[in-house]
Parts: sequence; structure tokens; C-alpha cells
Amino acid sequence: MCDLTRRNLFLATAAAAGLSSAEAQEPTSDSEVDKAAQVANGVYFHQGDIEHHGHCNNGWVIFKDYVLVVDANFPSGAQTILPKIRALTSRPIRFAFDTHHHGDHSYGNQVWMENGATPLAHTGVIEEMKRYETGYYGGKPGRWEESAKSRPDVAASHLTPPSVLFPHELYFDDGEQRVELLHLGIAHTHGDAMAWLPKERILFTGDACVNGPYNFVGDGDVEKWIATLDAAKKLGARVVCPGHGPKGAASVLDDQQLFFKQLRERVGALVRSKQSPKAIYEAIPQIRGDLAAQPRIARYVDKNGIAAQVEKVYQEMTGKGFPADVKASKSARLLHRYAHALRSA
Ligand SMILES: [Zn+2]
Repeated sequence: MCDLTRRNLFLATAAAAGLSSAEAQEPTSDSEVDKAAQVANGVYFHQGDIEHHGHCNNGWVIFKDYVLVVDANFPSGAQTILPKIRALTSRPIRFAFDTHHHGDHSYGNQVWMENGATPLAHTGVIEEMKRYETGYYGGKPGRWEESAKSRPDVAASHLTPPSVLFPHELYFDDGEQRVELLHLGIAHTHGDAMAWLPKERILFTGDACVNGPYNFVGDGDVEKWIATLDAAKKLGARVVCPGHGPKGAASVLDDQQLFFKQLRERVGALVRSKQSPKAIYEAIPQIRGDLAAQPRIARYVDKNGIAAQVEKVYQEMTGKGFPADVKASKSARLLHRYAHALRSA
């Protein structure tokens, strides 16, 4: 169903329910896994299969002379979408933009290189890679090596860090298409950037905004993330293409932000009332229930991930994590494996 038909149907349903179009909330999910969806002329969104393959979402923009791809995905994710782009255009794929350093967004760089594209990213991506990809930079095995243990596509390739870097912004503009790559602040990592299409008001967010239970907070900063989402909201997007989960309307940014605000509010109340780390840990099921009871943010609540999210917020507020006997860090690792598919694909 095309977006227009879908919207008409949505408005008709809203009208039948006695709501005006202004009162009716835009749908938060309107894409299908592993299907390329045209978002605007020459602009595509592809919802990756996170469940079976750990793939992230992708976007691509067809310019007059070349194609810019948003996110490199895992090597197998890159191989999944390459023929889909080729089926639409014979123009060369010249750039692969990594929204951040995580494997499911950057480990496919080598595949894009072999197909003629140059990987590029915000400078923070290299700083993060130096922190976590210690194997590549001459230190002990890092995340790539860990991922290669369970992912044949990673084991068969090698890490290729982005070689075109921008400290704040980078624009692509051929008079028809315009894409602005913007670093709006620390969020999911210390090197997130988004792709903003001002003419069509489409925003590709990477994992700074997801649409579902995919928030891995280990490499970022939840407090700063909320502020970065404010900056993203100010752009005035009409369509939000998240890093994981279906694309949706501007409300996806609001919901993602509200989830973190509510999480911080609940943990903050316990910290302010001087609860012990153990008591806060034991309150996790209660926090989870409170968040899951809110219709706008229920889809962000992950049964396995919430402990790590609570611990991260606690850490940001107090400067310390839960003591070793409190097992939240185990959950953090589990969530990381889940969110970034370090488990076998
Ligand atoms: Zn990520």
C-alpha cells in the first residue's frame, strides 16, 4: 500500500472513530521487514531483519550521478540490500554513511568498498572505534573479533573504518537531492550522526532513535541523549526512519525521548529518596511495569534490557554502578548481544 493510500485509510478510520485528523495520532509503524520502501522521489528506507540476522535499517538516496547509502549494516546486511539498490538504479554507489560505530551499522563497510563506495562518518565514530575495536588498532581482540566468533559474515570480512570524516556536518547537494549529515550531540554513542533531508523533511536517525525494544545504552549517555533528541525534534521531520524498527511519523522521536524521560524520572525518584543500590535493583520489575503501562512507550520496554538501562541511569546520576553482587551488568551484556546481534545470525 502506498503511503498516501495508507494515510487516507488511517484518516478514514480516525474519522469513523470520531476523531478529527488533528486529534488522530499518526501511525508509528508503517514499513515491512526486508522490503525497500520509497519514502520520496529517489529516497528509500529498508527495515532490516534484526530478529533473524541482527541487521539494522538502511536508507539510500539516488542523486543525479551517484547513490549515498545510510548505514553500512553487517556484511550480510550490505549484501541483502545491494541487489535491491542495483534493481532501482545503475548509478554508482559512491558513499556509505555509518550513523555510528556499532557492528550492525559499520561492519559492512568493506562490502561497500568492494562495490565502489567510500565509507564516511562523523569523527566520533573513529574515536569510538579506537575505544572498542582494539584488535584493529593493535591491542587485544575487540568487538569485531568477538562478533566474528558467532557471525560467519563478519569472520569472512574485515573491519574497514570510515576514511572520510566530518567534525560537525557534511552536505550532499546536486540541486535536486540534498542530504545533510548532522552530529547533533551525544546520544546512543559518542559519535552519532543523522541524515536529514530538509526538502522532504525525512530524518534517518541511526540508533539515536529506534522504534521498538532496541535501546542499547552502554556506549552513550541517556541524559545527553534526551537533549540530542530535542535538537533532532527541532528539525521538524515529517518522516522518521529509525535505526531499528519500522519507520514512522515525527511522534517516534517524541516517544523515544519520553521513554528515557520516564526512565530517568523513576530512577531519579529512588536516588533522591536515598534508596540503596540493592533496593533500586529490586525495583526494576516495578519500573518496567510502570513504563510498560504507558501506551506511547510500552513498545520500548525490553524485558532483558531494562536492568542495564536502569543501571546506566543510576550510574549517570550517582557516578557508580550496581555492586558486583547485583547482576545488572550481566543483563547489559545480554542486551548488547541482543541489540547488536552478536549472537549467531
Ligand atoms: Zn547501535
